[in-house]
Amino acid sequence: MLPQDTLALGTTRSVIRELFEYGKMRKAIVGDDKVYDFSLGNPSIPAPKAVDDAIKELIDNTDSVALHGYSSAQGDLGVRNAIAKHLNRLHNTSFSADNLYMTCGAAASLCISLRAILLRGEEVVVFAPFFPEYKVFVEGQGGKIRIVPPRADFQPDLDEFEKAIGENTKAVIINSPNNPSGVVYSEKTIKAIADILSKKSAELGREIYLIADEPYRELVYDADTPVPYVTKYYKNTLVCYSYSKSLSLPGERIGYIVVPDEMTDSKNVYASVCGAGRALGYVCAPTLFQKVIEKCVDCVSDVSAYKKNRDLIYNGLTELGYECVKPDGAFYIFVKTLEPDANAFCERAKAHDLLLVSGDGFFCPGYTRIAYCVSEKTIIDSMPAFKALAEEYNK
Ligand code: PLP
Repeated sequence: MLPQDTLALGTTRSVIRELFEYGKMRKAIVGDDKVYDFSLGNPSIPAPKAVDDAIKELIDNTDSVALHGYSSAQGDLGVRNAIAKHLNRLHNTSFSADNLYMTCGAAASLCISLRAILLRGEEVVVFAPFFPEYKVFVEGQGGKIRIVPPRADFQPDLDEFEKAIGENTKAVIINSPNNPSGVVYSEKTIKAIADILSKKSAELGREIYLIADEPYRELVYDADTPVPYVTKYYKNTLVCYSYSKSLSLPGERIGYIVVPDEMTDSKNVYASVCGAGRALGYVCAPTLFQKVIEKCVDCVSDVSAYKKNRDLIYNGLTELGYECVKPDGAFYIFVKTLEPDANAFCERAKAHDLLLVSGDGFFCPGYTRIAYCVSEKTIIDSMPAFKALAEEYNK
């Protein structure tokens, strides 16, 4: 007998992966440029040149045994020091290497953080729409998710949030810039979330943790869109970061968790994070990429191509009559479907070789996610297909 949860997860591919595989098959038939694949959040801009230079330099000049060997479980001191300095410079925080734990990307950061704090059956509050894997990660660590329904502007519904917090609430996950809506939470919103959590923690007489899932932190397109650093507003915050999107390194599996000193019982939470990494079998984050990040910690990607794509797709779709909130960040736009059944809409889109992900997967029916981390040409060429799709509904 096999565990039914893992068996079910392994036999039903995620909707996004399913669509991606369909796209590959379809491209082989009609040609790459005739399929408008907006399914995957795979970065379309290259990693900064400094990253490739650092890899070459490390391979040429570092002892190969050390370069490919195990690191300390929590990560090399060098990279943790470098990240702490970087964060302190940017956010006026006072982290040290002891507040950082290196991971294999945001997925690992989330699973380790959840494993470190959750007791079996405890609840984790999430705001719809949300990254589908949150449910998998929370349930995989023995927890349950509690969903706050979406608002039309995809900003958190604070009244519903307050109602969702109960006896069993142990944590809340926020994700700003957001996958799939692209919205960024303002300082006012973060403060309001922090106030509600402080009040509820006091009522419960114990901590409620805030997990800030931040793989898109650097992907914002307007100078007047700050992304507040959440530990400064709520002390019991774990930051789950990853270089997958910010430096276009999703295949290298590198990220980190921040456990701030201000957190209640911080040293034990950090120890539990180390224990969770161990229990989940991570051993250590990839050594080569820890060293690359140490060298490239202040590097930024040129995200102007994403901004251009954001403007092209937002303007193009709204001119055609589609309704959506203009995304401030990440590389997704969440569009209202032209019929209430988002799955049916996405099927009809497929007939135009438009590969769009149904909002149902993000726990937000009636919408579709478009990942615009594609070439500019794909967006321009896809517009007649979006037009034809809209006309079908307007007949
Ligand atoms: N969190 C969100 C919101 C994401 O969109 C993703 C990936 O798409 C992840 C976490 C996982 O990122 P990583 O590749 O760093 O594990």
